Amino acid sequence: MWDKHALVAEDDRVAARVLERLLRQAGYEVQVAHDGKQAWAIYQQQPVPLVITDWMMPEMDGLELCRRLREQLQENYTYIILLTARDQKEDRIAALEAGADDFVCKPVAPDELHARLRVAQRILNAEQHLQEQKRQLQELNEELRSQAEQLEHSFRLIEFANRRFSELFENLPIPCFTFDEQGILHEWNQAAERLYGYPKTEVLFRSMFERVFTGESATRMQSLMQMVLGGSALHGIESEDYDATGRVIHVVRSAFPLRNPAGEVVGGIVAVVDVSDRVQYERHLQSLAQTDGLTGIPNHRAFQEFLEQRFIEAKRYAQPLALVLVDVDHFKQYNDTFGHPAGDEVLRQVAQILKYLARDADLVARYGGEEFAIALPFTNLEGAVQVAERLRRAIEEAEWRHRPVTASFGVATLQPWMTSRQQLIEAADRALYRAKAAGRNCVCAEPESPSISESPHKTAGESKPVWNKAS
Ligand code: GH3
Ligand code: MG
Ligand code: MG
Repeated sequence: MWDKHALVAEDDRVAARVLERLLRQAGYEVQVAHDGKQAWAIYQQQPVPLVITDWMMPEMDGLELCRRLREQLQENYTYIILLTARDQKEDRIAALEAGADDFVCKPVAPDELHARLRVAQRILNAEQHLQEQKRQLQELNEELRSQAEQLEHSFRLIEFANRRFSELFENLPIPCFTFDEQGILHEWNQAAERLYGYPKTEVLFRSMFERVFTGESATRMQSLMQMVLGGSALHGIESEDYDATGRVIHVVRSAFPLRNPAGEVVGGIVAVVDVSDRVQYERHLQSLAQTDGLTGIPNHRAFQEFLEQRFIEAKRYAQPLALVLVDVDHFKQYNDTFGHPAGDEVLRQVAQILKYLARDADLVARYGGEEFAIALPFTNLEGAVQVAERLRRAIEEAEWRHRPVTASFGVATLQPWMTSRQQLIEAADRALYRAKAAGRNCVCAEPESPSISESPHKTAGESKPVWNKAS
């Protein structure tokens, strides 16, 4: 409801008094002015929603007051009722054009005035309602504008953050890339370009399995991608990739999911560390640790590891396994006569002969001192003795710098009762001992097998005990 304030402009004091009373009866607070000028002054002090003004007044008449009220732009509408004795059509038109809303004839009839006041009230109410809606609309507008501004600000921040993220990502010294649910690459930084040798133009917005990850590397990447898309973060995954030239790169990967604002996984980000140098160095160390320094063939430790594996496999799959131990004959004497460096040369040469004459599946190792060992998987006693015999003869017949060199051979095969590789080694050792006792430069086996034919051979200056006749 609009506030019920009315301004009466009436130079006739009696008429003014009557009006004031009628208005108060209708619930209005009333101010009275006795001419137009005074009314205008009061109104400017405090605008009111209802003005009832006489037409004919000194100083400023009702029409002029109407015009001024209308000229002054007010937020709220002022309803103007003109009191008049006149009832000519032209007068009314003039009054309406001056801005009057309604007329009441003088003398004022109370019931008519009240009726007119109700009309005024209805219009003012409607007007106020309209104003209220306009205000709400303005408020809404204001709110929208401020939200739009905030949004724009946020967009600018996000854009800034995006740009910063892109720069950071691009210049990270660690190879990084991102992919979506289809495995399409969306980012591929400079370090990735350098490591894999593919420029962005060749890989971006294509499947990472098209070029970058192929073959086994693709299989490994597929499973990593599935885990990341399943929401897992992975760290320290060792793998092997290929660069653009096909070279193997040893890498350690970390990968984690990328999510949209709703928290759903939409892709992944992968960081890659190139550990090729480390892997190569480790392999180098590993091979150093497994290689005999003098002869360049596998050392005692490498032999034990190899034999252990073959022993387990042979037991599990009931496959034969043979072991040959080789000991250079009278080597102490050789050293003493020709010097230690000459002895070293003999050991190197023996190693080369054994290595080149053994089969690929066999492992020739320096067992220690002037002793060598050969592990022969999938080889039975007969086969192993044949190999040993071939090797023995090769050493015997080789050209030696100072004097002929020979070696004795002990052969053993895996027996059902054996429970450790040590027992196999001991058996070969016993056979070797027998070969030494039999005069050296011969092959002895355990268990002794009668089915193996005699192998005629030379001995180092002694009588000629045959390997399978040795006692
Ligand atoms: P047998 O025929 O009974 O085997 O006699 P042997 O002299 O070969 O056996 P023995 O075990 O008495 O001597 C082995 C010698 O091998 C003694 C050792 O000085 C020598 N030897 C061990 N390792 C090396 C090595 O790395 N280089 C050289 N030059 N000699 C070695
Ligand atoms: Mg020895
Ligand atoms: Mg010896």
